[in-house]
Amino acid sequence: LEPAYQFMIRTRTPGGVVSPEQWLTLDAIATRFANHSLRVTTRQAFQFHGVIKRELKGTMQAINAALIDTLAACGDVNRNVQVAANPLLSSAHATLYADAARTSEHLLPNTRAYYEIWLDEERVAGSGGEDEPIYGDKYLPRKFKIGFALPPVNDVDVYANDLGFIGVADDAGGIVGYDVTIGGGMGATHGDAETYPRLGNNVGFIPREALLAVATAVVTTQRDLGNRNVRKRARFKYTIDDHGLEVVKAEIERRAGIAFAAPRSAPFEHNGDRYGWVEGEDGHWHLTLSLPSGRIADRPGMPHLTGLREIARIHRGEFRMTGNQNLVIAGVPAGERERIDALVRAHALDAVNDAPTALARAAMACVALPTCGLAMAEAERYLPEFTAALQPMLEIHGLAEAPILLRISGCPNGCSRPYLGEIALVGKAPGRYNLMLGADHRGQRLNTLYRENITQAQILAELEPLFARYGAARLDDEGFGDFLLRTGVVEIPARDRRQ
Ligand code: SF4
Repeated sequence: LEPAYQFMIRTRTPGGVVSPEQWLTLDAIATRFANHSLRVTTRQAFQFHGVIKRELKGTMQAINAALIDTLAACGDVNRNVQVAANPLLSSAHATLYADAARTSEHLLPNTRAYYEIWLDEERVAGSGGEDEPIYGDKYLPRKFKIGFALPPVNDVDVYANDLGFIGVADDAGGIVGYDVTIGGGMGATHGDAETYPRLGNNVGFIPREALLAVATAVVTTQRDLGNRNVRKRARFKYTIDDHGLEVVKAEIERRAGIAFAAPRSAPFEHNGDRYGWVEGEDGHWHLTLSLPSGRIADRPGMPHLTGLREIARIHRGEFRMTGNQNLVIAGVPAGERERIDALVRAHALDAVNDAPTALARAAMACVALPTCGLAMAEAERYLPEFTAALQPMLEIHGLAEAPILLRISGCPNGCSRPYLGEIALVGKAPGRYNLMLGADHRGQRLNTLYRENITQAQILAELEPLFARYGAARLDDEGFGDFLLRTGVVEIPARDRRQ
């Protein structure tokens, strides 16, 4: 006998795109092998929780049978590549997605061990049959994250990625190249000044043709210059701060054989999703649904797993996960909208879209307890309680429709990108959080610690007077974080702002 070990499995789904057929398979896997839920991550992947040890292999094989894999979804390699949601919206979005998908493929490790171990393929590892031109024999010092964004929407929080590509379109709307950002990352450790969240730096424009060469140059620069002695300092953001931005930029240019031009990307307006139906360039429609922390399960009054299974049975387009843990039912002909709407209503899939505050509709939380072993406090399970507690305060001060960005993480690793929340709770201990305030809603300014290690009652007591001031004195369209900065409630150093 051995303990009943449970595992989490995460898919590699660049840009979070799956077909209806794949959806049905993932649903069946969640029901057969996991805890009867699918969870959309903040990087547009799926996580299965509660897979027991003896069924790991069967689960992996079932995922691969759906033409989805889990290769490099964990580990010290390039992770799931994030892409601005919905490639069907415009030709520029389609190009962005295609470029992200080929970048993901290009940066996959060549290892055959994955196939040998999980898919029962013939053993070749160790027989001289592997060549890792990008990762070498040691892989990277730490995990590596890439995101593709298309202004004016920064729904992937591109500055939170180790490497970011911001699409630059010509007058006809076609993508001609990318501004490149390097050195973003959210993770930190409580009380350790050696670790900190950092926003990427825009080092300049490259033409589309240079995309893979630059991606390779950035990854190999981190491979060779990254800190392999001190794990907590092994992320690319610290490599840049240790060696200097200009040194790292010059090294990337040398390896890629290019010179960055002046940045050309258009400004970002927001980093959230827009809910409801929108029509794409080709006349098809796309419905964005807000999911509760990306969790898709059958719960009392909210049979979401069943509802999306029913939609997958009739849908002929795609499903798109967003970087904000939401879901786009994409590519719907106008004549099919009514049927989709009926299923959405019948299964309460619009429950969060119809939440009484804009804050609740856009809030994000990481998994945390009970499935994340690193969690110090609740996040996903606590989010509904916390947004409900904020609701009366927001309503009293006329802020029910103010799009305040709330993010909760169960620990400072920051999987829900809390340091980019206008309000963020970062777990310290059960029932206690650091209250962070002051980010913008474009993903271009970090927040800062406002109060440390406090309870819900204390958090509400801190926020109430700030909501009162914001409700009474905000400028037109002024975000909560911008208001706190303008009125001196918080100070954000220049190093934590972009543009
Ligand atoms: Fe776990 Fe921390 Fe990530 Fe939340 S932020 S999922 S608690 S590692």
